[in-house]
Amino acid sequence: MFNTFDSSSLSRRLRSVFWVVLVGGLIASVLLAQRSVSHLAQDRQLVLQSLLVDKAIKDVLTQLLDVETSQRGFLLSGRAASLQPYYTALTQMRDSRVALVSALVKEPSAKMPLDRLSATLDARLQELDRTVRLKSEGRVDEVADFAPTDLGNKTMDAVRGMVLGLETDQGARTTQRRTDLEHDMSSGYLLLAASLTINGLLLLALFQRVRAALVDGHSAQQLMDSRNVELALSLETAVASNEHVKGLSELSRFLQSCADMDEAAGLLKQHLPPLMRANSGALYLMAASEYQLCQVLTWGDDTYTEIFEPHDCWAVRLGQAFHQPQEAGSASCAHLQSEHVDASANVQCLPLVAHGELMGVLVLDAYVERDQHANLEIDGTRRFALEQVSLSIGNLKLRESLRQQSIRDVLTGLYNRRFFEESSQREVLRASRLQAQGGYDGLALMMIDIDHFKRFNDLHGHETGDQVLREVAQVLQAQTRGSDVAARFGGEEFTILMADITAEQALEHAQRVRQEVEKLVLRCSGKDVGIVTISIGLAQFPVHGSTVEALLLAADKALYEAKHAGRNRVVVAT
Ligand code: GH3
Ligand code: MG
Ligand code: MG
Repeated sequence: MFNTFDSSSLSRRLRSVFWVVLVGGLIASVLLAQRSVSHLAQDRQLVLQSLLVDKAIKDVLTQLLDVETSQRGFLLSGRAASLQPYYTALTQMRDSRVALVSALVKEPSAKMPLDRLSATLDARLQELDRTVRLKSEGRVDEVADFAPTDLGNKTMDAVRGMVLGLETDQGARTTQRRTDLEHDMSSGYLLLAASLTINGLLLLALFQRVRAALVDGHSAQQLMDSRNVELALSLETAVASNEHVKGLSELSRFLQSCADMDEAAGLLKQHLPPLMRANSGALYLMAASEYQLCQVLTWGDDTYTEIFEPHDCWAVRLGQAFHQPQEAGSASCAHLQSEHVDASANVQCLPLVAHGELMGVLVLDAYVERDQHANLEIDGTRRFALEQVSLSIGNLKLRESLRQQSIRDVLTGLYNRRFFEESSQREVLRASRLQAQGGYDGLALMMIDIDHFKRFNDLHGHETGDQVLREVAQVLQAQTRGSDVAARFGGEEFTILMADITAEQALEHAQRVRQEVEKLVLRCSGKDVGIVTISIGLAQFPVHGSTVEALLLAADKALYEAKHAGRNRVVVAT
């Protein structure tokens, strides 16, 4: 913690130093630039001054010569017009002298030579002026005294000497200034180079910082991108999970509205494989006999056995999910083929339990996700799906058995009277409709009664009586076709409704049923209890009745006649 604090405060200090140096470097370079500009201005000023001094000196010399030349011309010619250039040169010379003085006004060392030159020039000009005046006044003799040319020459030489001195001084000053400036400039260049180096370094540091910030930004972007990818993945998982739950609730809803197991099997075949997330699988349901598990559906490439006995599956025996071990020699389910138990497969048997009862077994070759979390989630949804499916199948079975209970006779397993009445009404209506259309094939009704059953009960007991009822019922069931309805009408009385049958066929069928019952060998507790016979009354639609009630009445009458005629016979209604 302290280390973190120290390092962060150190980096803060370093940052402060960095910015101070950066700002200092920038100020220094600005000052140096300003100084260089002022040196350049001074240099320019110096050159200008030298030029002005040169020009003024040359002008003064030229104008002095002009003054002297014009004076001499006037002295020789005496013409007043000759004085014009004299005065012009004088005026010009005055201006040039003023220019020279102002050019050298800031040079103290030039003051004395300048004064001397000025005095010499003034003296010479006064001389010349005097001769001009004398000549103008006509005093020629006096002029001659002032006219020796060597005087002018001497004055000119003195002036030239002075001018030369001034020029030399000016040159010396310029040279000194140049040396000073060059010195200043070279130290300035040195400072500039140092400042540029510092600024370069600072720029480099700044560039590094900007780049680091960009890289930081880039890595932050990358982090954000990876976060976005993670988010998208979880969203995808959530959507998939949502779809899964939706599929599951849809399947449960459909299963609940299924009429029977066949319909349910069709639905499961369509919806179960995607819900289970498995390469292949098979669903087995417990057969009614509860002695075997029968395959209802299968998917994927693998082949699964059609039927197996409950004790062949470890999931059934242990009452819980069983993962097939991948090691050779370990106990695996006997109903699986060897390829389901190899190292690459992830086969599991899941028991389907509802209302505390085994409904069946689901065998899956499940996907294995790389992500452990995803596997757990899949396991969870799979378990939930399985519970739903088990419950739905359990409910379906329960409903089926309740329905069977409501339409079947408990003792014999034949349809009960209520179901018989309902279906016979339907069949009679259908027969009427077909008859009206001309496509009627015949409908017959048998009323069956066991002969002397009371005596049987009395002799062998009620339980044996029940056993006889069951065995007779089995014969009746065996003798009925798919379209026929065999029912227990009540007590020891039965009915069989036969559709699409002629009168002859019906009589033939009734005789066969009677004979088959007669053939029954009845045993009770290992003892032979004799034979049982039945009497049958047969009625045909529409000859003996065009309604169920009428047909029943006609068949009952015929049955009574059969009893009366000695029993164990078939009598057709009249
Ligand atoms: P018949 O040949 O004239 O039909 O003589 P029967 O003895 O069969 O006729 P009856 O109507 O006199 O007797 C019917 C008997 O059937 C009376 C009753 O004890 C017996 N029975 C009715 N329902 C059952 C049942 O569910 N189980 C047993 N064991 N006997 C029953
Ligand atoms: Mg009876
Ligand atoms: Mg009877």
